[in-house]
Amino acid sequence: MCNEVIYSVVVPLYNEELVIDESYKRIKKVMYSTNENYEIIFINDGSTDRTKDKAELICSKDEKIKLLNFSRNFGHQSAITAGMNSSIGDAIIVIDGDLQDPPEIIPNMIDKWKEGYEVVYAKRSKREGETFFKKFTAKTFYRLLDNMTTVNIPVDTGDFRLIDRKVCNALNCLPERNRYVRGLVSWVGYKQTSIEINRKERFAGQTKYSLKKMMQLALDGITSFSYKPLVISGYLGVLILLIGIFSFICIIIRKIYNHTQILSFSLILSINFVMFGLILLAIGIMGEYIGRIFDEGKARPNYIISSRINFKKDDKNI
Ligand code: UDP
Ligand code: MG
Repeated sequence: MCNEVIYSVVVPLYNEELVIDESYKRIKKVMYSTNENYEIIFINDGSTDRTKDKAELICSKDEKIKLLNFSRNFGHQSAITAGMNSSIGDAIIVIDGDLQDPPEIIPNMIDKWKEGYEVVYAKRSKREGETFFKKFTAKTFYRLLDNMTTVNIPVDTGDFRLIDRKVCNALNCLPERNRYVRGLVSWVGYKQTSIEINRKERFAGQTKYSLKKMMQLALDGITSFSYKPLVISGYLGVLILLIGIFSFICIIIRKIYNHTQILSFSLILSINFVMFGLILLAIGIMGEYIGRIFDEGKARPNYIISSRINFKKDDKNI
């Protein structure tokens, strides 16, 4: 086994004290079986449970395990980004820490990489042990995003993937802050292929993606790769304007010929509600984009690392 690190496995962890030991064991076993040199980078994304202590204990026993501790919770996408920025391998594998993505698939990804593919992503053909709500929202979101973007982002694909060093370097050069990493991977291009997997049930614990975080990720995905929502509000505006003009003409004509009173207070009120609703919706959509422009303008880092463990000074990305 040569000393050069060939594989970097990036594992984001947020409050995964119940999972981390098993996750370490299974990933380690798989990586050991490759007979090539590797590093496993745990990113502790500001956990408030014992994840940090457990990760540090693992690092003290196994120098192949590296740890980045964030100063607070910066989110899954920032954790992945930090891991990729600090990785030194020729191929980088991003995998969730909760064992929903089976590490045993990694050798198949490596085979594809050795065939010459620069991105090998896992496509979820089945999702076990997840709620109907999660499956439904995920399915709808991926299809909605696919319809909205010009970049071809594969549907039913999470962040479990292998990327070549070239792809990782290209991603590390992208400065954007509200990162939707799986979209960025599609955007950078390169030779890509997929492997079908059965997404398993979590090994233990609860999902760390609250509804709020899921919505945030969905909005990041849509706003980073599509400005259709902005255009749609324009179309809606035109449609409502046309309806308004048409009904105005109808009312005038009826008034002239029939002398009837077709306008009622409740009708005007309901039209007002619809109009104001649509205007506020359009402003809200613009707000989502402007907020993101604001974030990019501030140019704050995606994450702050409070400590690094088992990283060597000559690791080139430190
Ligand atoms: N995670 C993270 N920061 C967060 C939320 C999640 O690092 O703010 C990690 C989490 O520990 C897990 C992975 O990201 O390893 C995926 O999260 P989770 O399993 O909760 O999401 P789900 O699979 O339910 O979509
Ligand atoms: Mg999970």
